[in-house]
Amino acid sequence: MERVYNFSAGPSALPLPVLERAQRELLNYRGTGMSVMEMSHRSGAFQEIATEAESLLRELMNIPSGYQVLFLQGGASLQFAMVPLNLFRNKKADYVHTGSWSKRAIAEARKYGEVTVAASSETQKFTSIPALRRDMFSPDADYIHITTNNTIEGTKFPAIPDTGSIPLVADMSSNILSEQYDVSQFGLIYAGAQKNIGPAGLTVVIIRDDLIGHAEASCPTMLNYETHTANGSMYNTPPTYGIYMAKLVFEWLRDLGGVPAIEQINREKAQLLYNTLDESDFFQSPVAPADRSLMNIPFTAPTPELEAQFIREAKAAGLETLKGHRSVGGMRASIYNAMPLEGVQKLVAFMQEFERRNR
Ligand code: PMP
Repeated sequence: MERVYNFSAGPSALPLPVLERAQRELLNYRGTGMSVMEMSHRSGAFQEIATEAESLLRELMNIPSGYQVLFLQGGASLQFAMVPLNLFRNKKADYVHTGSWSKRAIAEARKYGEVTVAASSETQKFTSIPALRRDMFSPDADYIHITTNNTIEGTKFPAIPDTGSIPLVADMSSNILSEQYDVSQFGLIYAGAQKNIGPAGLTVVIIRDDLIGHAEASCPTMLNYETHTANGSMYNTPPTYGIYMAKLVFEWLRDLGGVPAIEQINREKAQLLYNTLDESDFFQSPVAPADRSLMNIPFTAPTPELEAQFIREAKAAGLETLKGHRSVGGMRASIYNAMPLEGVQKLVAFMQEFERRNR
């Protein structure tokens, strides 16, 4: 069986050593005689997995005390609702609009209060991140929301905005653990697991203590962060196998040297691909160089026909899922933590050869 280089935006490639480890432990987890999938979430063996997963994430992201880590379900999309439901007090929030996912987040928050778009790159078709100054934010906003990495458009905030005493909320779904962030700059961070953490079905939330416990009484129990912080993410059955896989991914990342080490590899991978795009007059990157993502790299070829041919031939060469999102077209290479440098090298060599044949 040949494994391919999988450039999917999510669910996406997982580190091979993690999959092999899960395979070894699948039928009989460490002498328990059962799979982690079959285990009670209250069992000692699973409690240990969950505790270890949290402590590894705390170590990897340097999460200070005063923050809770939650393992939830519902994807990042449910956080689009949970954030306003829990953080609204004046029922006012500012959002920075940088793409399709912030659009969804804004629409959801508008159901619960007044949302101001403090800055937007919509007129640039989201190919850049707007410049932000503190005086652009409403002083009475309950929070300010950003999307650190825009999965579809391929942009990344080059710097984290200074929001003063207003809590900063970040959707970090597509670049959590890919580079170093100072968690203390954020009030709340959320991320769907299916890119840099593990399989789909798990959502990670990191929330500062003072933001917990302010939801209205009508807030559904399951959507109240306090429910989950008070019960160690086990108010109901958590996504146990997802948490186990996340633990394996966190161990893999720790053994590799943690976030500083993977950041360096990620920069090298992205640089290789961007250099190839910038040196080519066949392939193009639509994204402003200062705001380019390390994780999701959209690019185009001269015609839609050549793009379709590229995607088809790349697949035949073992380079999978390079089609761009339907809203932007072209190609997109998602090169999350689990994509090895060799995968990007193979892609770049294929691109150069394709260009020679077709220009
Ligand atoms: N935000 C971002 C930045 C994403 O990339 C995605 C998924 N691709 C989402 C939110 C939605 O996540 P989910 O499908 O887990 O709800």
